[in-house]
Amino acid sequence: MIQTEDMEFAPRVISPENTQEDGDIEVTLRPQSLHEYIGQDKVKEKIAVYIQAAKRRGEPLDHVLLYGPPGLGKTTLSAIIAHELGVNLRITTGPAIEKTGDLVSLLTSLSDNDVLFIDEIHRLSKQVEEILYPALEDRVIDIIIGKGPSARSIRMDLKPFTLIGATTRAGQLSAPLRDRFGVIERLELYNKEQLTDIVRRSAMILNIPCTTDGASEVAGRARGTPRIANRLLKRVRDFADVMGNGEITKEIAEIALGRLEIDALGLDSLDRRMLGMIIKGYGGGPVGLETIASAIGEEAVTLEDVCEPFLMQLGFLGRTPRGRVATRLAYEHLGLVPPEDNSGQLKIT
Ligand code: ADP
Repeated sequence: MIQTEDMEFAPRVISPENTQEDGDIEVTLRPQSLHEYIGQDKVKEKIAVYIQAAKRRGEPLDHVLLYGPPGLGKTTLSAIIAHELGVNLRITTGPAIEKTGDLVSLLTSLSDNDVLFIDEIHRLSKQVEEILYPALEDRVIDIIIGKGPSARSIRMDLKPFTLIGATTRAGQLSAPLRDRFGVIERLELYNKEQLTDIVRRSAMILNIPCTTDGASEVAGRARGTPRIANRLLKRVRDFADVMGNGEITKEIAEIALGRLEIDALGLDSLDRRMLGMIIKGYGGGPVGLETIASAIGEEAVTLEDVCEPFLMQLGFLGRTPRGRVATRLAYEHLGLVPPEDNSGQLKIT
């Protein structure tokens, strides 16, 4: 039987968050054009039209909000947009813009039609956000000079620019900020075929011999996320080098991923601990997210941003107003017997 809550803490190979180790390799693997960007077809089609229209008119692209779980290609897509528009890209994150002055100097340093990318835009402070409203709407910023009764406000014009905001949590964005984006697009988890293409492309760039079956095995366990697919590819390469002749085959991939405790569907020990706790600790739920998080010693936001989208996509987890519930499929996947009675939590399977 699969161990769950008593599993040891291991660094998560399949955390979709960017790590230092990903840094250099991500730059190498990042697609440069819409053509190279695999999947997300609907978003790509629309963005391609907006880019063409903006270029034809010689105007900046409308402000764009991209949302979806980490590692799905929001930064990559923003870089592609800037590249295809033929303009500069400035990259920053919400928490890095601490003071209003930081945003003012960023905005005033942009050239005509440049793209400013703000990752984790839901984490901007209220004061910084307020500078952003007139900047987005009327291309002006109001700067307060002095203090007290002698304080006065001067208005500065900005060059035309495009803001691309990225967030894992569109719901946390304030309504006035959300309303100022003309284009709002959600990036979806990738399917296995798309991830197989991504793994094969990355293997080619990194010169890693890889069979189609091998790529597909890695892709199938990457929980719908290109960043994880690329990271697993690198880990599996190590096993292929040590255990075989360097080629990633289905067999090598299976062994390697098994050693990394990533199961056939891509669940890792944290996913299993979460489901295991709901099932064994709370009779399958409903149970509140905070309760699960403290029971397994994990941050609620990690469970919400990282485990839940994937577990829900697999149909293993449901959200109800009274909390999270494990579905019949989750029981079966963990090798546990679902309760006989048709209790509430199983109706959602
Ligand atoms: P996010 O900003 O959403 O967290 P990133 O844009 O940093 O995600 O993407 C992580 C990595 O995944 C990139 O370095 C890139 O190599 C790969 N990637 C993302 N989307 C795609 C895609 N559509 N096609 C190919 N590779 C992709």
